[in-house]
Amino acid sequence: MRFLKQAMVLLIVMSTLPVMAADEIVVYSARNEQLIKPLFDAYTAETGTPIKFITDKEGPLLEKLKAEGANTPADLLITVDAGNLWLAAKEGVLAQVNSKALKTNIPAHLRDPDNRWFGLSVRARTIVYSTARVKPSQLSTYEALGDTKWKGRLCLRTSKKVYNQSLVAMMIARLGEAKTEKVVTSWVANLATDPFPDDTKLMEAIAAGQCDVGIVNTYYYGRLKQKQPEAPIALFWPNQKDRGVHVNVSGAGVTAHAKHREAAVKFLEWLSSKKAQNLFADENLEYPANPKIKPHASVAAWGKFKQDTINVSKAGSLQAQAVMLMDRAGYK
Ligand code: FE
Repeated sequence: MRFLKQAMVLLIVMSTLPVMAADEIVVYSARNEQLIKPLFDAYTAETGTPIKFITDKEGPLLEKLKAEGANTPADLLITVDAGNLWLAAKEGVLAQVNSKALKTNIPAHLRDPDNRWFGLSVRARTIVYSTARVKPSQLSTYEALGDTKWKGRLCLRTSKKVYNQSLVAMMIARLGEAKTEKVVTSWVANLATDPFPDDTKLMEAIAAGQCDVGIVNTYYYGRLKQKQPEAPIALFWPNQKDRGVHVNVSGAGVTAHAKHREAAVKFLEWLSSKKAQNLFADENLEYPANPKIKPHASVAAWGKFKQDTINVSKAGSLQAQAVMLMDRAGYK
């Protein structure tokens, strides 16, 4: 009798407990906590699925995934630049995901042709210029930054940064190696000063009068303008009459040894959906990868542009070639 009572109490207690989430998801992220935590919190609130995560630079995260192999606790890798996503796939740490939702939400050029990673936000790497010394009508293409009129007036970020390796890789894909090498050599001849360690310092140099034009990722421009709305610089969308502006992505892939694969795929699909796309893009002033979703008003204010729709995976497959080319061209 006493046993029956205890069993009944137990039953009642169990039935009043909240439904336990079947799965948790473990994320390794090269995007920093401030950018991803709001997404994780929103997803957990909506679905009850807890998300554990660690953040680090993309290189160490990839090394960690490789070293852990089949024992990795990670279900999902989030990182920036198609070059990095491509490398993670090549190193075998990402699994194929065949998802109708992801194929519908993410344009083909912003995801791996073999479905191992998916772009979730878009950043354009475009021309920035001094509004004090340059008229936009003087600008046209990336290639034209090598014209002699820009001698001593061009600033570039270091060629060691993957963003520039991706930019040059995509130019190789579009223009061929010989033409791209000519362009990069002409850029180097126009440099006002040694390449900068980051895009922000480059824009500050333009604002300060050290140079007049440069190439940067749009969200760095957005950040600088938020802090200094009066900074005398503006964005220009090059190559609008031909291939379009070079774009890159931040994105994610489910790991090859995910312990919660199904839950990770669901989360990835959610990240590409209307609910999450603005959360993913807006915090870093990027463009949603899903073309049905509008960018944040402050990003939309930079104007519409035609983007290059070559598959961003080329940034990876041609990266080694790009690095060698930049070296030959004397681009430090
Ligand atoms: Fe960046």
